[in-house]
Amino acid sequence: MFKAKDQLINQINAWYMFRVFPSWGIKVLFGEARLASSSSVKVGDSVIETKNILIATGSKPKIPVIKGIEQGLKRGFVITSDEFFSLDSIPESILIVGGGAIGVELGTLLHKLGSRVIIVEVMDRLLPTFPDPELGDYLANRIMREMYGIDVRVKTSVTEVDPDNKLVRLSSGETVKVDKVLVAVGRVPNTEGLNLEDVGVEVKNGAVVVDNHARTNIPNIYAAGDVTGKYMLASVAKVQGIVAAENAAGLNSRIDYDLIPMVVFSDPEVASVGAVASKDDPRYIVTKMPNAINYRAIAYNKPYGWTKIVADRASKRIVGFHMAGPWASEIVNMAVIAIKKGLTLDEMKELVFSHPVFTELFIDAMELAIGSNVYLPKR
Ligand SMILES: Cc1cc2nc3c(=O)[nH]c(=O)nc-3n(C[C@H](O)[C@H](O)[C@H](O)COP(=O)(O)OP(=O)(O)OC[C@H]3O[C@@H](n4cnc5c(N)ncnc54)[C@H](O)[C@@H]3O)c2cc1C
Repeated sequence: MFKAKDQLINQINAWYMFRVFPSWGIKVLFGEARLASSSSVKVGDSVIETKNILIATGSKPKIPVIKGIEQGLKRGFVITSDEFFSLDSIPESILIVGGGAIGVELGTLLHKLGSRVIIVEVMDRLLPTFPDPELGDYLANRIMREMYGIDVRVKTSVTEVDPDNKLVRLSSGETVKVDKVLVAVGRVPNTEGLNLEDVGVEVKNGAVVVDNHARTNIPNIYAAGDVTGKYMLASVAKVQGIVAAENAAGLNSRIDYDLIPMVVFSDPEVASVGAVASKDDPRYIVTKMPNAINYRAIAYNKPYGWTKIVADRASKRIVGFHMAGPWASEIVNMAVIAIKKGLTLDEMKELVFSHPVFTELFIDAMELAIGSNVYLPKR
């Protein structure tokens, strides 16, 4: 599986290195770069004078302060997502520290590959940064615990790691024995060694500060991606990079951070965008539709989860979409368009979608919101 992954990455790299970059006149230097001044970059012994600079150095895994963790990392008992992708065997058992997107995705994968998985999350639910708490709760209870038998501990933290005896002590007082510990508690921007301070680039909480135009406080220096500490998603990094390049070329481009879809590639997937509201909030229509009525989901034997729509009651405009279920990562992008363009429930209902497809879930949920869904018993 990892070989196939490496092959795929090589294929993608080759596409850029040999096809895309030469066609645009882009030159690539391999080496560690640092700013020499606000208009020059040092790579090895070369200094490149340049009109504009884009800082896109990404991030690295955050290592929490836990007794024994540094030793555990040195001995390979503790790993991060970086080491995970070059493991040469599947650990028989693994404790994952952190129940965010990475912890949940790698936990699902490891479970499917045969590991005994324990996920430890300090907050009161999985996916604590997702605005709809029902997503993390559904995933923890119905999927992780009930369907997969994964041991999910919330409101729990790791207090000590003992690599000699392969033990992990928890805040609950328990001690568990596992083959590996995977740390997935977030990432920190890569700003060290870039000489940002000397050049005067503003860094706050470890991230390069940028405005909505991907500009730093130095007029010709831009930053994009994880190094800016915003969302830390490839989807956001890509848009930031394009905006930075366009602005460096004299255009006036900006990023809209209001509508960022968040997805988790668990099985089933989880996706979320826009507003969250309670069913009791009179300002909103909130409907939650079971995905089990979708014919494609039935045919693929994936009738899991639900699709939730949040609409403004007065205007009937769609303002939020939250889903746990098959192809959620794809369907959420329809919600992005609908919310961004201010589409109403009635306008969406008029559309004819192909059939049988997972994307019908979006329309079905919409119909449920306006009372015209005929696939569920009358309420
Ligand atoms: C396990 C995992 C799963 C993820 N899944 C998703 C997902 O499903 N969807 C999603 O949108 N995002 C996902 N992300 C996040 C996504 O990978 C990042 O947001 C994205 O890669 C950020 O792009 P970037 O260009 O800012 O940084 P990176 O992709 O990290 O690239 C930065 C590059 O800069 C290089 N570099 C660093 N310092 C220097 C220097 N001084 N000189 C020269 N080069 C340097 C690094 O070696 C690296 O190659 C995931 C992340 C992880 C860890």
